[in-house]
Amino acid sequence: MQKIQMKTPLVEMDGDEMTRILWQQIKDELILPFVDLKTEYYDLGLPERERTKDAVTMEAALANKKYGVAVKCATITPNKQRVEEYNLSEMWKSPNGTIRAVLDGTVFRAPILIDSIKPAVRKWKKPITIARHAYGDVYKATEYRIPGEGKAELLFIAKDGTEIRQTIYDFECAGVLQGQYNKDSSIRSFAHSCFRYAINTKQDLWFSTKDTISKQYDQTFKLIFEEIYQNEYKDKFEELGIEYFYTLIDDAVARVIRSEGGFIWACKNYDGDVMSDMVSTAFGSLAMMTSVLVSPDGNYEYEAAHGTVTRHYYRYLKGEETSTNPMATIFAWTGALRKRGELDDLSDLVAFADKLEAACIQTLNDGIMTKDLAGLVEDKSTVTPVNSMGFLKAIRDRM
Ligand code: NAP
Ligand code: MG
Repeated sequence: MQKIQMKTPLVEMDGDEMTRILWQQIKDELILPFVDLKTEYYDLGLPERERTKDAVTMEAALANKKYGVAVKCATITPNKQRVEEYNLSEMWKSPNGTIRAVLDGTVFRAPILIDSIKPAVRKWKKPITIARHAYGDVYKATEYRIPGEGKAELLFIAKDGTEIRQTIYDFECAGVLQGQYNKDSSIRSFAHSCFRYAINTKQDLWFSTKDTISKQYDQTFKLIFEEIYQNEYKDKFEELGIEYFYTLIDDAVARVIRSEGGFIWACKNYDGDVMSDMVSTAFGSLAMMTSVLVSPDGNYEYEAAHGTVTRHYYRYLKGEETSTNPMATIFAWTGALRKRGELDDLSDLVAFADKLEAACIQTLNDGIMTKDLAGLVEDKSTVTPVNSMGFLKAIRDRM
């Protein structure tokens, strides 16, 4: 069989633990037999980040900017315990944080649905995509504990020296304090990414914040979205018959639960973090959640929403059999290959991505699935639980 050819390399970012094992297996079983795979490989596994003093992460992010499309394996974000476990010289920053800072993107997360697993919310029939602003707010906040009595102020010193100063609170006892920020430029990028993604996928776009309480901060998000929509996207939305609307986050939550799905819900950084976990769990499983970082200048980074599945990895190291679900990682590959195919005008590559996804869904519809999903199916008589390799082989058969 002649393999499918590629033009531009994909930026391949390898990762850690169980997902690193799956990464190689997915390539060997499902991609390399069919595609003459061209990648520029970056090893973001923790040992290599340590060896290069994390330079490899920045190199990978810059390559993503250069080539446009990357596929990333889950990686460990070091904490104190990991510093000991891997004997690290420093607590290296989250690779995702580094990549987001370079691309200034928005993260879109959408669940993969199958018939045999019913969402916890019965009305949901179509996926709900969460668009998470991946910059600033509480993730870049400065915070500390206040030891006791005293006055906290919010001070801004302009470049010309003028000051804006406001009392936050006159503390009569110990407490906590936090300063957060965001930038108009980043909010604008967020808005453009959301409107473009809605147009590309022909879905309605909802946007929510808490602007009734946060009359400057959240209000700014609302106004920027409205201005950009009116000036640049309204006509295209009307032409496609899709809708953009803004609503208070309290109202959005109620509407989301009453909806049938099939739209994009744009959220600020923290809201998006929390809501995407809730939505993925309600749809079935974190292992079925896909994720793509889209930058305003059109760069894409595809990954699974879940982590490195550490608990399974420790079992794997002891020689025990594991049943880790590779679906979201496979869909990261198909998403990246499809996008590469679209950008390079390679219809074979696009078709390959479609066929691989179809083979995955067919395998699940045939009842062959990893244990995390098998546990969610109501009629157990229709299910054949398998380990990760068994699942990949079943997909390969259908390919
Ligand atoms: P996790 O790796 O997502 O796993 C949490 C639990 O969810 C697992 O123990 C497993 O439950 C279940 N699970 C997740 N993915 C699964 C899959 N594909 N198949 C089957 N079950 C799955 O989260 P974590 O344990 O909190 O984090 C582990 C490491 O991942 C951490 O070092 C963290 O820094 C990193 N992380 C990386 C990313 C990223 O790179 N994007 C994101 C999140 C976390 P059971 O054990 O009950 O089977
Ligand atoms: Mg989260």
